[in-house]
Amino acid sequence: MKEFAYRRATDLRDALIAGSTGARYLGGGTNLVDLMKSGVEAPDRLVDVRWLPLAGIRETPDGGLLIGATTTNSDLAAHPGVRRRYPALSQAVLAGASGQLRNMATVGGNLLQRTRCGYFADPSYACNKRLPGSGCPAIAGQHHNHAVLGWSPHCAATHPSDMAVALVAFDAIVRYETLDGGGEIPLEEFYPPVGDTPQRETALPPGALITAVVLPGSAVSPRSRYRKVRERASYAFATVSVAVGLDGDGGSARIALGGVASRPWRARTAESSLLAGPPTADGFRAAADAELSAARPLPGNGYKVTLARNLIVAVLEEVHA
Ligand SMILES: Cc1cc2nc3c(=O)[nH]c(=O)nc-3n(C[C@H](O)[C@H](O)[C@H](O)COP(=O)(O)OP(=O)(O)OC[C@H]3O[C@@H](n4cnc5c(N)ncnc54)[C@H](O)[C@@H]3O)c2cc1C
Ligand code: SF4
Repeated sequence: MKEFAYRRATDLRDALIAGSTGARYLGGGTNLVDLMKSGVEAPDRLVDVRWLPLAGIRETPDGGLLIGATTTNSDLAAHPGVRRRYPALSQAVLAGASGQLRNMATVGGNLLQRTRCGYFADPSYACNKRLPGSGCPAIAGQHHNHAVLGWSPHCAATHPSDMAVALVAFDAIVRYETLDGGGEIPLEEFYPPVGDTPQRETALPPGALITAVVLPGSAVSPRSRYRKVRERASYAFATVSVAVGLDGDGGSARIALGGVASRPWRARTAESSLLAGPPTADGFRAAADAELSAARPLPGNGYKVTLARNLIVAVLEEVHA
C-alpha cells in the first residue's frame, strides 16, 4: 500500500480546500481503504470528513427528510422517520454489507462506492474504468454479474449500492459544496450514462463534497418495499434488486432496479405502463416486460432479465396486496 497522509478536516472550508487541491475525502473508509490496499486507488492525502457536523436526519418543510452525508448507514436504516415513511430505504440499507460495515459506512461514501467488477478490482487486468482506453475484458470474459441495461462496449459494470436504488425511486437529490459554491443534482442524473467514458462515474464537480441527500415528501414512499436477490443470504451485493413504492390507491408507482446497470435504474417505462391499466397481475407483467424490452444481456447474464422481470412482478403484487 502506498504511503499517504491522513488528517481530520477541522471544518467544511478546510475540507473543501483539501479536496480542491487533490486530497480524497474519507468517509467510513470501507470502500476507499480496501481499494487502496489492492492498489486500485493511490491517493497521496486523505481528509477525513466524518467529524464534520454533517451527520443526522431532519424533517423538511415539504414533509421530506434531509439526510446528512456523514450519517452512518446504520443510523439511516434505524431512523424512525425513515422506517415509517420510506421503509424501502431502510430495507435497502439493511440488505447491504454487514452490521459492522454499516456502522462505519456513510451515506456520501455509499453513493460514491466503486463497482465490484472483478477486473476493476485487480490492477493486473486491463479496465477502461480504471485505465481509460485499456479495454474491457468483462465483455468477452466473466460477466455473469454485469449489466443488462444501459451498458456500452466500453464497460458493462454495475453500480453496487442498495441504498441508491431506493433513493432514486423516491426522487432523492444530492446536495454538495465546492469552494466556488454549492449545488444540487437529482440522483437520477447523478450517475451519467456509461458511453465511452466509464471512468466518469458521477456528475459531481471536481473537489465537491457531498453534504446531504434530500428526500422530497412523497405519497408513494410509505407503502414501499425493497427486495434483493443475491448469491448468499447476507454479505453479498445484489444480483438483481427492486424498490417499489405505491401511492394510497395504487394509482401511482415508483420502481427502481439495482444490479442491472451502471447506475441505480429508475424504471420509468414500467411506471408509465402501470398507469395505463388496472393493477392486475397481467398489468404488472406487462409493465416489467415493457421495462426489460430495452435489456441487452451479454452471453453469460441473460438470467438477470428473467430475474428482474419476476422480481418486479412479485414485489408489485406484494405491495399491492
Ligand atoms: C464486504 C463488503 C460487503 C458490502 N456489501 C454491500 C452491499 O451488499 N450493498 C451495498 O450497497 N454496499 C455494500 N458494501 C459497500 C459499503 O456499503 C460501502 O463500502 C460503503 O457504503 C462506503 O461508505 P464509506 O463511508 O465507507 O465510503 P468511503 O470508503 O470512505 O468512500 C468511498 C468513496 O466516497 C468518497 N466520499 C466519501 N464521503 C464523501 C463525501 N461526503 N463527499 C464526497 N466524496 C465522499 C471517497 O473519497 C471515496 O471515493 C459492502 C462493502 C464491503 C467491504
Ligand atoms: S466492465 Fe467496466 S469495470 Fe469491469 S473490466 Fe470492463 S471497463 Fe472495467
